[in-house]
Amino acid sequence: MKYKSPRGTRDIFGETALGLSLLEQKAKEIFIRHGFEEVRTPIFEDAALFTRSIGQTTDIVEKEMYVFEDRKGRKLALRPEGTVSLARAFIEHRMDISSPAGKFFYSGEMFRYERPQAGRYRQFRQIGAEIYANSSPAADAEIIILAQDVLSSFGIDKINIHINSLGCEKCRPLFREALVNYFSSVEDLCQDCVRRLERNPLRLLDCKVDSCKFTDFPKISNYRCSDCKDNFDTVRLLLKKANCNFTVNDKLVRGLDYYTRTVFEVRSDAVVSQDALAAGGRYDNLVKEIGGQNTPAVGFALGAERVFLAAQSAGFFENFKSPENFFVAIADQELFGEAFAFAVKATRDGINGNKDISVFGPINGKSLTNQLKFADKIQAAKTIVFAKTEFENGKVLVKNMKDKTQIEVELNNL
Ligand code: ATP
Ligand code: MG
Repeated sequence: MKYKSPRGTRDIFGETALGLSLLEQKAKEIFIRHGFEEVRTPIFEDAALFTRSIGQTTDIVEKEMYVFEDRKGRKLALRPEGTVSLARAFIEHRMDISSPAGKFFYSGEMFRYERPQAGRYRQFRQIGAEIYANSSPAADAEIIILAQDVLSSFGIDKINIHINSLGCEKCRPLFREALVNYFSSVEDLCQDCVRRLERNPLRLLDCKVDSCKFTDFPKISNYRCSDCKDNFDTVRLLLKKANCNFTVNDKLVRGLDYYTRTVFEVRSDAVVSQDALAAGGRYDNLVKEIGGQNTPAVGFALGAERVFLAAQSAGFFENFKSPENFFVAIADQELFGEAFAFAVKATRDGINGNKDISVFGPINGKSLTNQLKFADKIQAAKTIVFAKTEFENGKVLVKNMKDKTQIEVELNNL
């Protein structure tokens, strides 16, 4: 075989394809119930938009973006995430001025050049939701609860919600300085951490290399200003009131620079792997930073492939039966037109009022034996046979493919 799908991408068939569609459909229903409105943005954008907002020293910008030039030499990037594109659209359509309060959701393909493994692809789908122009900690709590609701609607209840507050421009610099002081005296930092120490010290807490798993590092909780402290207290209080369980994780910093205050990650507990299923947080400066009016916002995104795997191992898709297959066969070639018309009607109206079916056939120019072989191959539950003698009396034969019994049925009754 000469051509293969590019590394980190895949062709999706059968249960996975159906499962991913179902996931999207159910998530949309939940978003709409929470008052969110759908937005679709382009799959590629000006590369600078992402570099600027996600942060020069983040993994996404440093290593993971698909950047290319078009024929006019424009530097474009396949979107690595959805939040920034939505913020760009929000500003471009002057919503920051005309109708700043809004709740939006999106779902679609994202692209990151990463080492592929289970639940980690170079092309993957994210489903996300964002609340604009709402700086209340209630919006943070709503987003976290929304993420939980979407996951639990797929039967994923064994989750751990990790939350943290990264502070604001007043208190974060102090924390940053404390981190630099602390880590400067730590030996054996990995290569990446040595670089991070200079450019983005918060990211050291997030290092995945074992030697960099520190324990007695400075804690953000000792550095938050009183506004940030109150804010985080309220987020936690509201989550508790809504019976949403969470763990405060002072190592959680997230891989994108635009976050302020609340950040969170929903990790699967016992299912599939330790990877995050969903993540998000507050980003009060993003809209302003990319040229809009000051608009605080908070949001999250879930990884559809990972959520699919988690839902599958929670047994969620076992309750979903695929539609029954029906095959339309002809015992006499001259009935092909009649059988064809019946098949068309059956796909439109269902059979016996049952619309949860898939209709196959008729096939022209094949013996009945061969047609029935095909019906077995597609695991048809029933085959409807158009035969001359019966058809002249307004009837067809309905063959049960499992027990091989056969009955005559009035065509009008089907
Ligand atoms: P990770 O730490 O696993 O790399 P991340 O912090 O880069 O995740 P986000 O940018 O927060 O991830 O994206 C939100 C969600 O999108 C993740 O929680 C995950 O479920 C999913 N996701 C991220 N990268 C990939 C990928 N390469 N393939 C599949 N899903 C992904
Ligand atoms: Mg990542």
